[in-house]
Amino acid sequence: MAKKPKTNKTKKAANRVGPKTRESFDVRRKRAAKITRGLRRLYPDADCALQHRSALNLLVSTILSAQCTDDRVNMVTPALFKRYKTVSDFARADKAELEDMIRSTGFFRNKTKNIIGTGRVLTERFGGKIPDTMDGLVQLPGVSRKTANVVLGTWFKKNEGFVVDTHIGRLAHRLALTWQSRDDKDAVKIEQDLMEVFPQKDWTYLGHALIWHGRKVCNARKPACDRCTLADNCPSAHKCD
Ligand code: SF4
Repeated sequence: MAKKPKTNKTKKAANRVGPKTRESFDVRRKRAAKITRGLRRLYPDADCALQHRSALNLLVSTILSAQCTDDRVNMVTPALFKRYKTVSDFARADKAELEDMIRSTGFFRNKTKNIIGTGRVLTERFGGKIPDTMDGLVQLPGVSRKTANVVLGTWFKKNEGFVVDTHIGRLAHRLALTWQSRDDKDAVKIEQDLMEVFPQKDWTYLGHALIWHGRKVCNARKPACDRCTLADNCPSAHKCD
């Protein structure tokens, strides 16, 4: 069962104010709802960009996507998933061969270690199945809350948490939707703030939609505020230079 969202009606939360705005928590929640509506208009079908046909595919692709673009991962995985089809294939993989296949995704030695380790832990503790819980997934080597949230939300359709990658971290700050984190790398605090400000039913969708917006409009170097339809609800509009 998905974890209950943190209550967003607590007095503590209601008194919080953001880093860029002095709005109350209630005002922020209303602004967040407008941002959700704006994103739904822009990206009605937003989904995970990593190509996959199984929970195992998605798990391995998400491990590979650390410090790498989804496009690059999608170039590597067709051959990879043809060669390694099951959990036990990964558990028994030859290290040098696997390293060679995923080299172009970067940090390939560490990723190889984590993928083989994940295959082994899945075999030993989970009967070769991908767990559908946060507690289970984070036991796997190289699987953070972010990776677990991708698998839970996209494959298992469970809104258990909020994916926070580099795009979402940046957008959470620019849109002033986080108040506990000091920078866009503080993923756990950003996730907590997003979980309080958005309804749980929207978490997985918003993860995908914010990533798309970060790629297409609000990119790191030069956000396109002039053509951004979220600008009316963004405290950073035209102020990022
Ligand atoms: S208005 Fe600018 S800073 Fe705000 S979300 Fe849009 S592109 Fe990003």
